[in-house]
Amino acid sequence: MSLTAKQLKRHNRHLTIDSIGKEGQTIFGDATILIAGLGGLGCPAASYLCGAGIGSITLCDSDKVEISNLPRQTLFKEEDFGQSKVVVAKRVLNLMNTDTKITIFNKELDDKLLNNFYTVILDCTDNIRARLKLNSHCYEKKIPLVSASATAWEGQLIGFDYRHKRKLCMSCFTNQEHYHVSNSCTQRGVVNSVVGMMGTLQATTVLRLLLGHFDQHGEMIRYDGKTGRFITLTKKPDPTCFVCSEPTNQSKETFINNTNVRNPENDTFL
Ligand SMILES: [Zn+2]
Repeated sequence: MSLTAKQLKRHNRHLTIDSIGKEGQTIFGDATILIAGLGGLGCPAASYLCGAGIGSITLCDSDKVEISNLPRQTLFKEEDFGQSKVVVAKRVLNLMNTDTKITIFNKELDDKLLNNFYTVILDCTDNIRARLKLNSHCYEKKIPLVSASATAWEGQLIGFDYRHKRKLCMSCFTNQEHYHVSNSCTQRGVVNSVVGMMGTLQATTVLRLLLGHFDQHGEMIRYDGKTGRFITLTKKPDPTCFVCSEPTNQSKETFINNTNVRNPENDTFL
């Protein structure tokens, strides 16, 4: 799809960047993004992706706007209290950029929604069940997944480019000590600007993935808002991961050898 005269004016600041240009901006316009969760991560991510000229954005969230959302969830205002988050967000995003098609899904994440085509999926949820569901789907369909979370002063971001990388996935991290499941936001609280920054980083990661500039598959970026420092954590794939691991020839041989060792004539073990 070529850029209209209005789009050429609107996205002038992108077009002048060599690594984006008209070609990159056209890629943004052709992209279809799913944002699962419209809280402190999903609001800034949706806002920046809509502003960046993404062609189609689907928003999934079953919640209504509450007063305690307002410090972080920048698409909502006091007058929106009690209304569906996705309905309000669609109205705001449509006012921002009429070229971006906004589709809303006012329910919990389900298979019907996931069966649609997406170029990239954003995990902006706050629960591990949804996160693992998104991971399994993205891995199976070879869709890039960008996941983030934030609790108190700390934010985390991980991207997986399953189009090209088949080892190491979100499930490999979920039992690790250094992975903090962020469903304790309600209990432990969260600093509004920290979660906002992680949502913005998710949007930036999407743009990089679309342009082919992403080479951090499975690297965890952790931001400590108290010290202002970023660190990057890497890990090896979990050989027992039920999503991305498969028995290698070597492990099959080991298994057979071990079976033979443990199967002498009088062995009652087997
Ligand atoms: Zn895995």
